[in-house]
Amino acid sequence: MDQPTRHRRGLLIVLSSPSGAGKSTIARMLLDADDDVTMSISATTRPRRPGEDDDVDYHFVDDDGFDAMINDNEFVEWAPVFGYRYGTPKAPVKQALRQGRDILFDIDWQGTQQLQAAMGEDLVSIFILPPSMDELERRLRSRGTDSDEVISDRMSRAAAEISHWPEYEYVLVNRDMDQCLDQVRAIVAAERLKRTRQIGLVTFVRDLIGPAH
Ligand code: 5GP
Repeated sequence: MDQPTRHRRGLLIVLSSPSGAGKSTIARMLLDADDDVTMSISATTRPRRPGEDDDVDYHFVDDDGFDAMINDNEFVEWAPVFGYRYGTPKAPVKQALRQGRDILFDIDWQGTQQLQAAMGEDLVSIFILPPSMDELERRLRSRGTDSDEVISDRMSRAAAEISHWPEYEYVLVNRDMDQCLDQVRAIVAAERLKRTRQIGLVTFVRDLIGPAH
């Protein structure tokens, strides 16, 4: 179905954080809680981790496949992260926005900057901080999917990712998943109510008070 709902313009909601700060869990909880939000599925050259599904968690592609997508101008943004390439396919984003749906992005600061430049007007950027670096490391280890080497590499890059926090409009500290989800939902609810995003408001108010005002 590709019918525009037209009650409001769709939002691009970006969640960024160092890996392990809880962003993927928050994203999943938001999708479960809110039918108007669709997840953007990125393409990546990173190998699939145990438990991940192709075309659900990511579109897993090889280097040639990624090159072809770049050449065909299929990405709204892409960036190298941890030695692999990650990119956001353009078509599903455009479709969601046309339908007045919101689209959620789990992308890094480089991708956020590119999205900001390409479609900044409807972008809502949220950065999620871990409560401490010790807690971040504990969460990374509890996943049990990455080797010690990968974890220490991710820890050393976490500080670099966190250093980009001032580029985001909203910054949350994830001490508690449920509280963090409530905060994300509050942000989304307020952003949806912005005057400029509500289509049909001028007509509604004209009907309400008449054209003379
Ligand atoms: P992971 O390999 O742990 O799934 O993701 C590593 C990092 O890549 C995360 O910070 C994630 O937000 C980022 N990432 C995932 N998809 C994209 C994308 O399409 N574009 C960009 N720029 N970053 C992405």
